[in-house]
Formats: sequence, C-alpha cells, structure tokens
Amino acid sequence: MGVPTLGCECAVCTSTDPRDRRLRPSLLLRWRDQKRERVVVIDTGPDFREQALRNGLTRVDAVFYTHSHADHIMGMDDLRPLSFNVFREGGPIPLYATPETAEALERIYDYTFSPSSTYPTRARVQLQPLAERTAVHGVEFLRVPVRHGEMEIAGFRFGRAAYLTDVSAIPESSFALLEGLELLVVSALRHKPHPSHATVEQAVGWARRIGARQSWLTHIAHELGHEETNRTLPDNIRLAYDGLSLPVNLGTEN
Ligand SMILES: [Zn+2]
Ligand SMILES: [Zn+2]
Repeated sequence: MGVPTLGCECAVCTSTDPRDRRLRPSLLLRWRDQKRERVVVIDTGPDFREQALRNGLTRVDAVFYTHSHADHIMGMDDLRPLSFNVFREGGPIPLYATPETAEALERIYDYTFSPSSTYPTRARVQLQPLAERTAVHGVEFLRVPVRHGEMEIAGFRFGRAAYLTDVSAIPESSFALLEGLELLVVSALRHKPHPSHATVEQAVGWARRIGARQSWLTHIAHELGHEETNRTLPDNIRLAYDGLSLPVNLGTEN
C-alpha cells in the first residue's frame, strides 16, 4: 500500500524519518557491459515513474516481473518514453513474465499488446516467456519459484544476489538455488501473520538459513517503524529503504 498508508495517522505513517516513507517495491540492477551501461528493472509498480526520476534512470534493457498484483505492474506504461529510445537502437524492451502475469498485462494494457491496437505511441515492449534462466547482456537471471499465498510467483537470482518479494513460503527446491549468496533481499510485511506475506520472524528465519552475508527486508507495511524494527534484528539483517543502493557480485553463482 505504500507508507504512509492512505487514511492512516499511526506513528510510522506520520514519522519524520525519511526511511519510513516507502514507495512500492522494485529493484534496479545496473552494470557495465563492454563500456555500456545496462539496466534491468524487476517490477514496474505504480511508483515506477517516481522511482525512475529519483534514481536517474535513462534506459531500461529488460524488465522481469515477479507476479501480476497491482503494486508490481501498474507502472508498465511509464516505460513508454524509455522504450522509444531503446526502440531506435534496435528493438522493443523485453518484459519477462510467467503466463499468468503476461495474461494480466495483456488484459490491462490491451492498447499496448493487442495486435489490433492502433494506439500510435504505445510502449515499445514485448512480452517474453520467463525461462528458468535468462541472459541479459552477459548477466544471467535465474528464476527462483516462491509461494505468495495461493500463487506461485517468481523470485530472481543474479550472480551472488537474490530478490524475493511477496513471499509466504520458499519451496525446498528453491533453497537449493539460493546457495552461496552474498546478498539477499526478501520481503517481510509486518509481525502479524498474513495469508500471502511473510512476517519479520519468518523472513529472518529464511535469511539465517540461506546465510547470505547481508540480508535486507523489503515490501514493508506501516506496522514496522524503520529505526525501532532495525534495533530488534540480527546485525547482518536490516530493513531496506527507498533509494538503498548496494554493490552486487555478478560473477559465477557458486
Ligand atoms: Zn502480491
Ligand atoms: Zn506486493
């Protein structure tokens, strides 16, 4: 819902700590490939445009989608201006998505994806099936299946880092894909149980088991104040915050 949450005047929603102001979750990965900057975004939520402005985003080479909920897809249309630039360089921006997510995107953005669309300035984007492994300009993205309530959704590993949002359970087979991580970003909504999101306690348990050097919690609801929650966490597990930027080892997986 973002923090402040609309209509709420709790201590976190009225906090003056900038880390208690939270846009919807998303991840930006930048690296250099033959002297060119390459950029991948995971999820374009409703705050994508604002996040792109704040972080100086000038190009996107590919987007990966975790799932089709509004807080993860409703900024897709704001890829339009960036897609015009990429298109001139030779092709639409690939959007990697599961069949369920692709179906939702096609339905919501009918004017973009329908073959009969005549909307002239539609985003130059192209849905691509999400494979187990996808290479983007030399970086391999490994799909890591996780549970989100009743849904199976996609997490991602790239090099020695992984991004798992909207998680309520991690299948055993996915733990095997998360060995040797240096950096883990995993979602933790609040302390009270929720049918489709992890509590802080669950997320800390997974972070300990996965054993990354550092773990960051994201997709945080207004029940969790930044400072007070951090005080209760182990040293190498922290709440993430908007604009957090970290170095990532994109070398081999193990
Ligand atoms: Zn969701
Ligand atoms: Zn979500």
